[in-house]
Amino acid sequence: MSALVQPRLVNDAFGDSTLFLDFAFGRRAMLFDLGDIHALSPREIGRVTHVFVSHLHMDHFAGFDRLLRLRLNVAGRVRIVGPPGLCEGVAHKLSAYRWNLLGETSPDFALEALDWREGGFVAAGLFRARAGFARIELSLPDLSPGVILDEPGLLVEAVPLDHGIPSLAFALQERLRVNVHKARLDEMGLAVGPWLSRAKERLRAGEGGEVEGAEGQALSLDALVRAGALQTADGQRVAYVTDAGWSEANRKGIRAIAKNADTLFIEAGFLDADRAIANGRHHLTAAQAGMLAREAGARRAVPHHYSPRYETREAELAAEFEAAYRRSGEA
Ligand SMILES: [Zn+2]
Ligand SMILES: [Zn+2]
Repeated sequence: MSALVQPRLVNDAFGDSTLFLDFAFGRRAMLFDLGDIHALSPREIGRVTHVFVSHLHMDHFAGFDRLLRLRLNVAGRVRIVGPPGLCEGVAHKLSAYRWNLLGETSPDFALEALDWREGGFVAAGLFRARAGFARIELSLPDLSPGVILDEPGLLVEAVPLDHGIPSLAFALQERLRVNVHKARLDEMGLAVGPWLSRAKERLRAGEGGEVEGAEGQALSLDALVRAGALQTADGQRVAYVTDAGWSEANRKGIRAIAKNADTLFIEAGFLDADRAIANGRHHLTAAQAGMLAREAGARRAVPHHYSPRYETREAELAAEFEAAYRRSGEA
């Protein structure tokens, strides 16, 4: 069963941190962070529906202008979620330009900007091109603790970390996936129909019991799964951690958001010999990042956000990361 989302870093390990999450269906994509996005095609940027920003340092948010410029003349919405100050930051960025050429006949493009911190959303603004990007207050979404996006097919979770300022780490969690095996349905003499959507929904919600089939007959979900007519698979988890110091609270937060991730992208900016420098800047070393990836049980771990001071020493950073990630638990 193919994954719902394909994640890939937009830049090399020395470039700005930005993860592009491309959806297999629906011509859709999301971004974790919004640094330099020139390596993405306009078509890819055109697919973005949601952007989750860790913090407002330039290397994580300077791609805002490119996103805005490419989307401005196309109807649609982009939601940007980040730590407190994000909504105000978006308002300030928009107010740097003159919008006298926009009006009620302009394409209906809009940005939604939401501030989140542990405990939930604290600010939300809507900025419509047709209104010259004047801020309109939005009601705050009320989601479960730690959840910043809740859709039928997936969740996005966040945890606040300390980077001198709050820095959010994210995880996209696909829900249980349910596929229909048409040949098996045929063998069972069952016709397809709207009942399949209800059956899929029930399974995704973790419910058993029976559903009503196309001819009103009671069908056991359990039996459908056992016969292979409905096939389920755990959804993948993609975690993204960047810009956070080596504190006990951060380690706890990182282990939680990265727990059992299929893929973890984690900042690994400094060599172990420069631990004190990393610490002073509230960053992780490669060895620390590798250790956390291992402790979290990440199946695959990708280091990123190398400090430019190591331009010619990339292999050393990668080696320190790998050594800590692969080290056996007994060591
Ligand atoms: Zn930073
Ligand atoms: Zn950074």
